[in-house]
Amino acid sequence: MTYPVNASSPSKTFSDVACTVCGCVCDDLEFVVEGDRITEVRRACDLAEPWYLAINDCYPDAAQIDGRTSTFADAISESVRLLSDSHNPLIYGLSRSSTPGQRAAVRLAEQLGANIDTTASVCHGPSIMAIQQVGEATCSLGEVRHRADLVVFWGANPVESHPRHFERYSVDAVGQFVPRGRADRTIVVIDTKATATSEQADLFLQIDTEQDLEVIWTLRQLIRGDEPSCTPKTGIPLERLRDLAARMTRCTFGVVFFGLGLAQRGLGHLNVEALLRLVADLNSHTRFSARRLRLPGDVTGADSVLCWQTGFPFGVNLARPYPRYNPGEFTADGLLIRDEVDCCLIVGSESTQMLSPQAQARLKQLPTIVLDYPHVSPAWQPHVHFTTAVYGVHAPGTVYRMDEIPIGLHSMMDSPYNTDEEVLEAIRDGLQRNSG
Ligand code: SF4
Repeated sequence: MTYPVNASSPSKTFSDVACTVCGCVCDDLEFVVEGDRITEVRRACDLAEPWYLAINDCYPDAAQIDGRTSTFADAISESVRLLSDSHNPLIYGLSRSSTPGQRAAVRLAEQLGANIDTTASVCHGPSIMAIQQVGEATCSLGEVRHRADLVVFWGANPVESHPRHFERYSVDAVGQFVPRGRADRTIVVIDTKATATSEQADLFLQIDTEQDLEVIWTLRQLIRGDEPSCTPKTGIPLERLRDLAARMTRCTFGVVFFGLGLAQRGLGHLNVEALLRLVADLNSHTRFSARRLRLPGDVTGADSVLCWQTGFPFGVNLARPYPRYNPGEFTADGLLIRDEVDCCLIVGSESTQMLSPQAQARLKQLPTIVLDYPHVSPAWQPHVHFTTAVYGVHAPGTVYRMDEIPIGLHSMMDSPYNTDEEVLEAIRDGLQRNSG
């Protein structure tokens, strides 16, 4: 399609722009926009800058049916037809969206009596289940910046996955009670292999594969003052764990950031449950928190919106008059592998890469309706494809940082595309007209 480039427009600079590329949601970016192009992104990391500049070069059709250009109205009608014919549809994704789009997706799922699931089910789903079991001692990233003098990264490599986490929140940031930044902090990395993050740590504890639970349980024993009756097989000498336990109880404000390396290793939900119990124990000695390092865009917002609308964060079935939640039964991967859904609406196709190969293969055989940003395209040919405006560039919205703090997004330029909220609402209107 022809993108309405207006090169004669004067350049405009937008400051304090929030970045939605990873869960850090750095809100200090500066964008220079000329006409309808982003010409410069300042303070963006190596993940964010190419992501935003790529928007300039992609002008796909606003709507396609079976790979051919379509009018928006025809694509909506075809989507309504596919979903009306479906007996058990699935709505999946939502992490490359924003609160308005996520809310519209839940409304559509309610109207359809559909399953609705977010990318949490293939990422931090086990962590969420652990939090539901034992609760969590939380803090904001602002508290980490101003107070944390002991920072532990467990099964995570933020130097590569969240490039500005160190600078803005956890390691180098200068805070009120840590005025010398890095010099006032002890950084600990616990992982099964050396990473770019472990290279920058004061202490690196390399544990044996799938021995996280043993390490956490040993730390709990040591923190309670119990002596382990035998040396646990963790890959780490007991003396080093004793040293870590002492540092954890002695610190003024500690935080452990954990990633998929912990949540997806072995029985991930039990690993995280044990870690949350360890953090609860530590709060008898000092102030300590645990936080997930969340990856793509607004996955935290997707969980939050699902929670406030249905009571549950992912894997929800709305076929009955009340919502049902059951990870494994109503999550996308299981539904697809067991061949239990007959139509899928996907908001953000990049999230499907995290599904199992069997689920991805099944997805390609089903009628699919896909909503994507201009610079993202699905790895298969969906039946209906909509290109949508980018929240925070073309449309306002709200994104949730990894610590569940909502941050406003503003529009910097016009777009020829509808937002995913508008597409989803148009489909819902069509379904309502059909049923009326
Ligand atoms: S660290 Fe994350 S939120 Fe911050 S600029 Fe990089 S990609 Fe964006």
